[in-house]
Parts: sequence; structure tokens; C-alpha cells
Amino acid sequence: MGVVLAIVAVALIVSVAAVLLVRGHRARAAREVPPLSGSGDAAQTTRAAPRTHVPSRDDGLGARIRSLFAKADPGDEDWGELEQLLVRADVGPGTASRMVTDLRERWIPGADPASLVADEVVTLLGGDDTGLHLPGDRLAVIMVVGVNGAGKTTTIGKLAAHLARQGRKVALAGSDTFRAAAFEQLDVWAQRSGAHLVSQARGADPGAVAFDAATSSIAKGFDVLIVDTAGRLHTKTPLMDELAKVRRVIEKAGAHVAETLLVLDATTGQNGIAQARAFAGAVAVTGVALTKLDGTAKGGVVLAVREQLGVPVKMIGIGEGIGDLQMFEATAFADRLLAS
Ligand code: GDP
Ligand code: GDP
Ligand code: MG
Repeated sequence: MGVVLAIVAVALIVSVAAVLLVRGHRARAAREVPPLSGSGDAAQTTRAAPRTHVPSRDDGLGARIRSLFAKADPGDEDWGELEQLLVRADVGPGTASRMVTDLRERWIPGADPASLVADEVVTLLGGDDTGLHLPGDRLAVIMVVGVNGAGKTTTIGKLAAHLARQGRKVALAGSDTFRAAAFEQLDVWAQRSGAHLVSQARGADPGAVAFDAATSSIAKGFDVLIVDTAGRLHTKTPLMDELAKVRRVIEKAGAHVAETLLVLDATTGQNGIAQARAFAGAVAVTGVALTKLDGTAKGGVVLAVREQLGVPVKMIGIGEGIGDLQMFEATAFADRLLAS
């Protein structure tokens, strides 16, 4: 009797474990991010013939759009529904409306609606200058700004590794002197990426740290200096003044601020964009690093950023690892957005 019970118990545990494993695997597969390589593979997936099936909650934007346009002749209601789908994918309302107007004009019966939308995304973003402009003949300073928790320090670590792989000598400065553990966190990333963290006196203020880091980076012949900054927002005006001051003292030290990157957490959607606007207004932001696009974030936020901040997304974060940063590329992005 005891033996039979034991066997039944083991069988139960094994089958529950199997179900959980399969589920976990499916969830992971759904979350998996295809490489943003711009290769033909991704393009082919997107350009596949329209599929007719009932959309489920798990379907991506592409599948939802295809099933919406499965019937022969889309009417006003369908176009309105498409606009809603885009808004729900975090594409800003203005951009969504403009996209639908354009798409209606270009619509040919039988076309794959998802690939038309992908083309439209490329049209909207493809003209943007998404490269980092770092002069090669003198120190190029990259200032990194954004609210707390957006992913500034992590992005700096990944970016340092990316630039080091290109053969540049990279230094880091910890001008986030507000958070207690900020310097230690940056130090970990410096070690991982092989960048040099400019040492600083305890209790030094952000301006002094930036000044010393710029001075020593020039003296030591570094190619790039990436400056981490504090992100607290509750004292908005002093923070913005502080960022402007950090920039001023970097220039006073004789260094050139080549890029000011605004780091934005994609999962905060429209709220995050509203907060980001405060930064974009106060410091001359040259590009956005959009983080956490690996989670449940809806990629449409890239379009909303473009629309509402008027600044191109230059890179995206797709995880917490050192390799989880990709330079933004419109075609690959559009394919990925519409691929599932
Ligand atoms: P900071 O306050 O702006 O400097 O933000 P941190 O760099 O400290 O990051 C805050 C949290 O977000 C950390 O737990 C990071 O690991 C995480 N994080 C940053 N970038 C990404 C990303 O692209 N994907 C994911 N999943 N997590 C990220
Ligand atoms: P202002 O605030 O725009 O008038 O600029 P300041 O010249 O007063 O400098 C602002 C901050 O930059 C100071 O609080 C210092 O932290 C830093 N700073 C400016 N000059 C130097 C310098 O020669 N050495 C160091 N270590 N820091 C400096
Ligand atoms: Mg930080």
C-alpha cells in the first residue's frame, strides 16, 4: 500500500514538473528577442503572407494587425481599431493617427498590413541620425542623465564595453554623488567593461568630480569619458541646475560634451516620457537610451519618444548583462516590433 502511494506521489510530482517546464519554456520562447541584426531572416518573418487566426492576448502587434485586416476590405472601424492597437503598443497618439492616415493612402487590397506598418515605422525613424558622434582626435565626453532606476549606471557599463570593443580608451566618472552606493556600482561596471574609473574624494560634489575627471582624462589621453549623474527628481529645479553646472565645468576643464544621453525605462511608457521631457528641456539631450525593452515593454514607445521628445533613440537596453545593449537601427527595430 505504502509503495503504491509512493509511486502515485512520484508520478504526480513528475507530471506537474513537466507541465511547469513546458510552460516556462513557452513563456521564455515568447519573450525571446530576435537579434537586431537587420538580417533578411527577420524581414522574411515580417513579410510573410497574411495569416487568418483569432488573436489572443499573447499575440504580438504584427499578428493582431494581420487578423484585423484578414477580411477583404477594411472600413473606417478597422482603421480606427488599428489606431487603437498602435496606441496600446505605446506609440504616441499623434504618431498613431498620422501612421493610420498614411497607411490608408498606401493600402492595396491583399497587401500584408503588418509589413506596411513596418515600412511606415522605418519611414518615421529611418531618417533619424541615430549614431553616436564622438570625435576621434580629442576627448569626447558623454553625459548620462535620467530619473532614478532608469538604468543609467547599467547602460554606462554596457556602453563602456561597447566602445572598448571598438578600441577606444574609456574612462568613467561618478557624478552621482547623491546615492551612497553609486560609486561602488559604477566601479563594478568599470571592472566588467575594462574602463578606467576616475577616483574621487569622498563627499566631493558632482561638479568637482566631473571637473577632475575631465582634467585627468585629457591628461591621460582617454578617447571617451562617460559621466554618470544623479537622477533624483523630487527636487527638480536644483537637479536640473546641477546637471547644467556639471556640463559647464566639463567645458571649463577644456573638454567637449559630445553627447548627452537621456536614459529612459521603456516599461514606464507615457509617464516616463512625461518625466523625460523635464530633462530634455533642461539639458540639451542629443539622444535617448531606451532600457528594459526585454521585459513586457511595448516597443512602440520608441515612436512616442521620437514624437514627444523630438530626440532620436540611439540605443536600446535588452537585459542586465554587459552585452545587452544594441545600437538602434530602424529597419531591424520595425521588423522586430511587427514580427510576432
Ligand atoms: P540608475 O539609477 O538610472 O543608474 O539605474 P541602474 O543602472 O542602477 O538600473 C536600475 C535597475 O534596472 C537595475 O536593477 C538594472 O539591472 C536594471 N536594468 C537596467 N537596464 C536594464 C535593461 O535593459 N533590461 C533590464 N531587464 N533591466 C535593466
Ligand atoms: P559656476 O558654478 O558656474 O560659477 O562655476 P564654478 O567655476 O564656480 O565651478 C562650479 C563647480 O565646479 C565648483 O563647485 C567645483 O565643484 C567645480 N570646479 C570648478 N573649477 C574647479 C577646479 O579648478 N578644480 C576642481 N576640482 N573643481 C572645480
Ligand atoms: Mg545610477
